This record gives sequence, structure tokens and C-alpha cells, in this order.
Amino acid sequence: MSDIILKVKNLTRTYIEDKVSTAVLKGINLEIEEGKITAITGKSGSGKSTLLHILGTLDKPTSGEIIFKGKDLTNLTNDAKAAFRNKNLGFIYQFHYLLGDFTALENVMLPSLIGGCPEKEARKKALNILEKVGLKDRVDFHPGELSGGQRQRVAIARALCHNPDLVLADEPTGNLDASNAASVFELFSSLVKEKKTTVIMVTHDESLAKLCDRKVVIKDGVIED
Ligand code: ADP
Ligand code: MG
Repeated sequence: MSDIILKVKNLTRTYIEDKVSTAVLKGINLEIEEGKITAITGKSGSGKSTLLHILGTLDKPTSGEIIFKGKDLTNLTNDAKAAFRNKNLGFIYQFHYLLGDFTALENVMLPSLIGGCPEKEARKKALNILEKVGLKDRVDFHPGELSGGQRQRVAIARALCHNPDLVLADEPTGNLDASNAASVFELFSSLVKEKKTTVIMVTHDESLAKLCDRKVVIKDGVIED
């Protein structure tokens, strides 16, 4: 068995709105193995995105612990969380969130530049990963000049360019048609396997979940066995 990169202990999240509280996550326990792709599935509204946000330190749990490589993330200051995310995490969403005024290359370079990587090196890494996602001849195009599948490939390249330990993906192919979704996932999967990146991917697509190393289901606020 490989090492555990992420441990989630008794995690809860209750939203309080207009004095009405809704318990969404009611005690999530999860251990994520390094280098594996774990699919998180569950009905719409079951708390998949909520869990992924919390794992990515973008939202705080109501209670519980998140241990990443032996270190508890829940007590970090906001600045420490931002630095942690930039160094260790990559994010991919259903909608690409690329910056429209920047080229594909510039979009992919950004996380490395923000992390303090020299421009020349960031450019080299970005060109390399864009070639791997099949967009060598599109590096100077803007997002608006690319197809949906191409934009998602740029988003994947951006998430992987700075070699994060963990990639969190929320329905990364959810906006693509079935055949495009399958080919984008296949590409993503082969790239992360090559880099030995750990991935947690939320998906409601059972056929994609089956292609992952492991599938967990959220039901009634807990991980179903
Ligand atoms: P999923 O991604 O599985 O579809 P979400 O995590 O987005 O589910 O949402 C889980 C539940 O939490 C839903 O009932 C949703 O309405 C509620 N929820 C999500 N975000 C918020 C929020 N910011 N404030 C209040 N309720 C929220
Ligand atoms: Mg969601």
C-alpha cells in the first residue's frame, strides 16, 4: 500500500443561513493514497463541492481535521493557506476559469509566476505541459479562440504545470459532451500517472468514476461504505 497523503477526520460542515442551519457534511472520514486518482460521487446537493472546497482550504470545516502530509491544515492562517495552496495544490473546475485577456501560455504560466518561479523557467514548463495536452500549436491563442475541450486541456495544463502534489478537480469534464469528456479524462489520467500526482475528482459520471483507482460515495453527509 502506498503512503497516505491526506487524512480527513470527523469532518463536518454546517451552513447557517437566516438562522436555519443545514448540516451538509456530518462526519467525513477519508484516507487518500499518494499517486492515486480517487473519485468522489454522490447525488446533486450531497456536499461533494463543499468537501472539495474544504480539502482545498478554500472553506473552513465546522469541525474536524485535515491532515496533509502529517500537517493539520485547519489551523493555518489565511496567508499560510494561500501559500500552501499555491505550492501544493492544483484546481480544475467544470468551467475553465481561464483569464480571457491572456493567451493559453500565459494562463498556464500564472500559478508558477505567482509561486515565484522565474519567467523563463515558467515559460519552459508551460510550453512543455501544453505540448503534452496536445496544444503546441495553440499556445498563443486566447481562451475565446479555443473549443470547449481545448479550454479544459489548458485548464488541466494550468493545474499541473507547477507540479502540485495534489490536484482537486470538481466535475472537470462536466461541461463537455461524452466523447470529449472521455478523451480529456484519458489525457488527464495518463498525465497525472506519469507525474505520480494524487488526484481527488468529483464526478457524477459513473463511467468516469469507474476509470479511477477508487470511488467513494457521499450519502447523507458521510462516506458510504
Ligand atoms: P454537490 O456539489 O454535491 O452538488 P454542494 O456541496 O454544492 O453539493 O452543496 C451541498 C448542500 O449545501 C446543498 O444543499 C447546497 O444548497 C448547500 N450549500 C452549498 N453552498 C452553500 C452556501 N455557501 N451557503 C448555504 N448553503 C450552501
Ligand atoms: Mg458540486
